[in-house]
Amino acid sequence: MSEVRIEALNQIAAEVRTCTLCDLHKTRTRAVPGAGNYHTEIMFIGEGPGFNEDKQGLPFVGRSGDFLEKMFKLIGLSRDQVFITNVVKCRPPDNRDPLPFEIDTCKPYLDQQINLIDPLMVVTLGRFSMARYFPGGKITQIHGQAKLENGRAYYPLFHPAAILRNPAQQPLMEADFQRIPEILAQVRALRSQGAPPPPSAGDDAPPQYTPPKTSPEDVAVSKPEDAPNSDTPPTQLTLF
Ligand code: URA
Repeated sequence: MSEVRIEALNQIAAEVRTCTLCDLHKTRTRAVPGAGNYHTEIMFIGEGPGFNEDKQGLPFVGRSGDFLEKMFKLIGLSRDQVFITNVVKCRPPDNRDPLPFEIDTCKPYLDQQINLIDPLMVVTLGRFSMARYFPGGKITQIHGQAKLENGRAYYPLFHPAAILRNPAQQPLMEADFQRIPEILAQVRALRSQGAPPPPSAGDDAPPQYTPPKTSPEDVAVSKPEDAPNSDTPPTQLTLF
């Protein structure tokens, strides 16, 4: 990743920390721009900071964060290998749901973070981040079903807090997490068929992905039972 892009991401974080575009800034202790590795292949997007995140200025550092780290461990990931952020960057008072206006106001920050990091996979945690990519989707029906769009997988998962409230669903969450490496491998393979060379140092344009010849609408990431023979790189996969 070029210095220019790193600088742009740092600049976004600085803007978030002093943002006053919606009323959430009036009640926050600290804004939470996001944290982790800018060079990551995976971004996790939650809902909004809670009590602990607001105090520390970091995402997912409370009980939900502990749970998330447990899920990362299942697949050999650690927090510093991914980038974690939220749909809204300031804590809604009393942890209420973020309002549509707050989500819309904060959206340009998230959009820019995604464009600059250009992850292979966006994992949504809970219904607010899911709604960006799966409008009208119901988390109980679509969790764990990846959709591929413009060379990136979008993968809706339950929110960690929902699993903490309802531990009977933990095995579902674990199974969904365990599919992440396979989905990543499929997106990597697809990008390697059509992606341009990585941008050179100093290039400030966001990475452009040229989709492979197969139309993205025809391409989807398979469920485990549909997984192709791992010896043959996937060109067209069937989802759902
Ligand atoms: N819940 C979220 O959605 N985000 C956080 O950062 C913490 C808890």
